Amino acid sequence: MLKINNLHAKIEGKSILKGLNLEVNAGEVHAIMGPNGAGKSTLANIIAGKDDYDVTDGIIELNGEDISELAPEERAHNGVFLSFQYPVEIPGVSVTNFIKTAINATRKAKGLEDMPAKDMLKMIREKSELLEIDRKFLSRSLNEGFSGGEKKRNEIFQMAMLEPKLSILDETDSGLDIDALRIVANGVNKLKSKDNAVVIITHYQRLLEYIVPDFVHVLYDGKIVKTGDASLALELEAKGYDWIKEMA
Ligand code: ADP
Ligand code: MG
Ligand code: MG
Repeated sequence: MLKINNLHAKIEGKSILKGLNLEVNAGEVHAIMGPNGAGKSTLANIIAGKDDYDVTDGIIELNGEDISELAPEERAHNGVFLSFQYPVEIPGVSVTNFIKTAINATRKAKGLEDMPAKDMLKMIREKSELLEIDRKFLSRSLNEGFSGGEKKRNEIFQMAMLEPKLSILDETDSGLDIDALRIVANGVNKLKSKDNAVVIITHYQRLLEYIVPDFVHVLYDGKIVKTGDASLALELEAKGYDWIKEMA
């Protein structure tokens, strides 16, 4: 599904990614771990198409197609979802209305009519029941006064509704309490299927107590320096990142 080969990227002239390789297949959950400043968020943002970065070398393919020239919206329409893509507060626009607009924008880009209101309501009902999200939450103003857990609930709801092929969840660690972690983990576990893939970026092993990844990668100094199964996360938790430094 996702194939990244020899990715090099700079920010403001500084090299951040230095030859990164990553391959993610449908049906898989990958975790990317690594110390602060390693380039994890940079990788997520580049896959999603944010333009603050100079990609100087490498290939990013989604389902066999080079996506490196596509705008973020086009990548989203091709099934890429990045958490916190829509962190804006929009007073007066509810969680539900926002997602309706996003879904219809995606449909329009594909030349489709708006989703019939009846189908939209059915989908909202099904997904919110699956994720145990109550109606009151759906009518709240987008991100306005949301707690950490509510922000996560909103993100996971967006992910459920947009049915992305590839979800990238950049769990920028700080402020994620146990409730928020559970919301993310339950969502990922429930939405996982043989047709989609999830990449979870995290600094800590905690989240991986609830989601068992198929692969764990260590990103260090702009490269994936080690790949293993879920036990690698435990090893990192026990040993820290210093031993990785010696390998890199
Ligand atoms: P991580 O998510 O692994 O903590 P980041 O990808 O956020 O790491 O950052 C990687 C490096 O790039 C860090 O050294 C950071 O200071 C630098 N960096 C990130 N964003 C910017 C930016 N907008 N301008 C300048 N430097 C940046
Ligand atoms: Mg960071
Ligand atoms: Mg980060």
